[in-house]
Amino acid sequence: KAKEAGRHCYRFFTVELQHAAEQRHEMDLRLRQALNEQQFLLYWQPKISLQDFRVSGFEALIRWQYQSSILTPDKFLHIAEDNGLIQEIGRWVLQQAMREQHALSSAIGHPVQISVNLSPRQFADTTLIADCRRSLQQSGLSPSLLELEITENSLIHDINEATKMLGALKQLGVRVAIDDFGIGHCSLSYLRQLPVNTLKIDRSFVRDLPLDQSNNAIVAAVLAMAANLRLDVVAEGIETSAQQNSLVLGGCQYGQGFLYGRPMPLAQIESWYGEFKQRFQQAASIS
Ligand code: C2E
Ligand code: MG
Ligand code: MG
Ligand code: MG
Repeated sequence: KAKEAGRHCYRFFTVELQHAAEQRHEMDLRLRQALNEQQFLLYWQPKISLQDFRVSGFEALIRWQYQSSILTPDKFLHIAEDNGLIQEIGRWVLQQAMREQHALSSAIGHPVQISVNLSPRQFADTTLIADCRRSLQQSGLSPSLLELEITENSLIHDINEATKMLGALKQLGVRVAIDDFGIGHCSLSYLRQLPVNTLKIDRSFVRDLPLDQSNNAIVAAVLAMAANLRLDVVAEGIETSAQQNSLVLGGCQYGQGFLYGRPMPLAQIESWYGEFKQRFQQAASIS
């Protein structure tokens, strides 16, 4: 009886697996098609200076216009990471982001920095340097206006290679941020040696501010450490003014989150900015 159940189980799994493999293959094809037919687009989320509510920059977040819906990266990027298409997609993001920077700056009225997320695979591949250099030349963008975001785990996978890569990026003059900081495995002694510019405090630590004691302590520790290492700090995922206020009190310089603006296409930036100024900059100049 048990044997029969086992066999049944086995059959069940092979059918499931085969189905999964077919779906996977289907997704590979669709992603390839998406790249060829330009179905990817960039959304932009503002990064705000918490001292004066100026817009300091925008982060590029990829979207896939798939049939009539807009897919977020959690639906497809892991597949691209597995099948290697992430390299080409990443090159496209880098180029497109630099192309749109000028229009972003025009909408805001001063030059804004742009941030681009890099996948672990992109960061591990030395062609990144040539790609960056070429895109910078083509766009004419000042390298200091480009920040690349990598996760801690991209760094610790091979710390020697990572250090070389960071050195080469620094030579190019582009900035580097550690994204989702605090949830990975980057030790403080590494952090001290690595030529990075910015820490982005992961959203999970911001979510329960200001009431949660342990998250308060973590954020305070990150801010103190960053100040010591002369790193900029961006808090991710600010949704309420209570969260914002506790971050400002702690000395956090920059913030991103739904409180200020959701990721949006370039065409919406100008009208968003009009509303943002009303809500935040007037309040700031009155007080
Ligand atoms: P991330 O770089 O940490 O980006 C922040 C994510 O948090 C974005 O999700 C953004 O929409 C969301 N977010 C921002 N503010 C808030 C908030 O106040 N509340 C909440 N609940 N969420 C907020 P998104 O756009 O779905 O991107 C998810 C992740 O996908 C990104 O996390 C990044 O790791 C990755 N990603 C996005 N675009 C690219 C890309 O072009 N290349 C690569 N390699 N990865 C990308
Ligand atoms: Mg990011
Ligand atoms: Mg992040
Ligand atoms: Mg994140």
